[in-house]
Amino acid sequence: MTADAAAPFLPGATLGMVGGGQLGRMFALEARRMGYRVVVLDPGEDTPAAQFCDRHVRAPFEDLDACLELARLSDVVTLEWENADVATLREMERIVPVRPGPGVLEVAQHRVREKDAARRLGVLTADYRAVGTREELDEALREIGAPAILKTARMGYDGKGQAVIRGAGDVDNAWTAVSAMGSEFILEAMVNFRMEVSVICARSATGETACFPVAENEHRGGILHLTRCPARVSDEMASEAMRVATALAEGLGVVGLLAVEMFVDADGRILVNEIAPRPHNSGHHTIEACGVSQFEQQLRAVCGLPLGSPALLRPAAMVNLMGEDAGTGLGRAGVADALRIPETSLHLYGKGAARTGRKMGHLTSLAGDVDEAAGRVLRAWEAATRHG
Ligand code: AMP
Repeated sequence: MTADAAAPFLPGATLGMVGGGQLGRMFALEARRMGYRVVVLDPGEDTPAAQFCDRHVRAPFEDLDACLELARLSDVVTLEWENADVATLREMERIVPVRPGPGVLEVAQHRVREKDAARRLGVLTADYRAVGTREELDEALREIGAPAILKTARMGYDGKGQAVIRGAGDVDNAWTAVSAMGSEFILEAMVNFRMEVSVICARSATGETACFPVAENEHRGGILHLTRCPARVSDEMASEAMRVATALAEGLGVVGLLAVEMFVDADGRILVNEIAPRPHNSGHHTIEACGVSQFEQQLRAVCGLPLGSPALLRPAAMVNLMGEDAGTGLGRAGVADALRIPETSLHLYGKGAARTGRKMGHLTSLAGDVDEAAGRVLRAWEAATRHG
C-alpha cells in the first residue's frame, strides 16, 4: 500500500455518495454528526439523502460529466447504489479514491460472476448455470433439475426479474417473463432453506476487517420484512457465516462494507445467495443495537479510520415500513401507539409518494432476548400501520 492510500480522511473532508436513497441518508446523518461534508449524486429531486447532504449533484448515474463533478467535489467517493456504471467509476477513480472500487461492483452487479467468485474463494452456493438462450435454459434445467429459479443476471433485487420453475410446464412462462427483463440469466437450484441470514463485513482501506453479528431475515414477496439479531443459529453456524463474509470481502478486495445474503440449508450448510458492497437493509438495527452502526462503519472503512466495535449490545429486531403500510396509519395516531412500545425507534426516509413496494421507513425494537424484540417490533408495526 502506498503512503497516500494509507492516509485517513479526517473530519472536514468531503465524502461523495453515489445514490441518494435511504442508505445514503443514514450514511449522511452519521457523516455530518462526525464533522464530514457530504455530496450526493442522484437524479431525483429532494431524495432521502439529499435532505441531509451539503450538496446534491442532480443528474442520472450515467451522466459522465456529473459523475466527474462529484469526483472533483469529493475527497473519497462511496456508494449506496451498486448498479453504478463501472466504466464511469473507473473515470472517477482517476480523480479520487472510489471505495468500494469498480472491480468489486463488476462482480456484485452480475449474479453469475458473483457466484463464480464465491466458488473461486471456496464458498458454497446453490448449484447454478449461466443461461443466455432458451436452449441453454432447457439444458441447464436438465442438469440442475426442478425446482429451480430463473433470474436475470443483472439489476435484480427484491425478488424482481425472477421466476420459479417447478416442472417442465413452467418453462415457457418463466422464460417469457424473465427474458423480457434482460439478456443474461442464471438458473439456480431451489434451496430448501431452513433460514435466510446475512452478515455485513466491513473492510477498511487499511485491510482491517470486522463483521456484524449474523442477522436472520424473513422476506415477504421477495422483499425483506423482518430482521432479528442475533440469528437463531448455533455458534458454529454463526462463525461459518462470518468466515464466509470475511473471505468474500478480503477475496474481492472490498474497501467499505460487503453485505452477504446466505441460506442455511436443511443440512445446516451456509450457501451464499447474493452480495451487495454497501450498507444493507438487514443491518439497520445496528444503529440502535451495536457498538457502531453500519453507516458509521462504512464511513470509517472508506476513510481509512479504525473500525468501530460491531458487537451487539442488545438483541434487536427490525421491520420495514412499506408504501402499502405507510398509506394507511403512518403519520397519524398509530405512530404514537408504536412509540409507546418500550425500546422502539422510528426511522422515516422522507420520501414523498408512498407506493406499493417502496421502502418508506423502518422500526427497530430492542429487548432482553431476540424473540421479545421481534414481538415488540411486530406490535409496533401493527400499531403504526393500523388503518384510520
Ligand atoms: P434474491 O433477489 O436473489 O435475493 O432473491 C429474493 C428471495 O427469493 C430470497 O431472499 C429467497 O427468499 C428467494 N430465493 C432466491 N434464490 C433462491 C434459491 N436459489 N432457492 C430458494 N429461494 C431463493
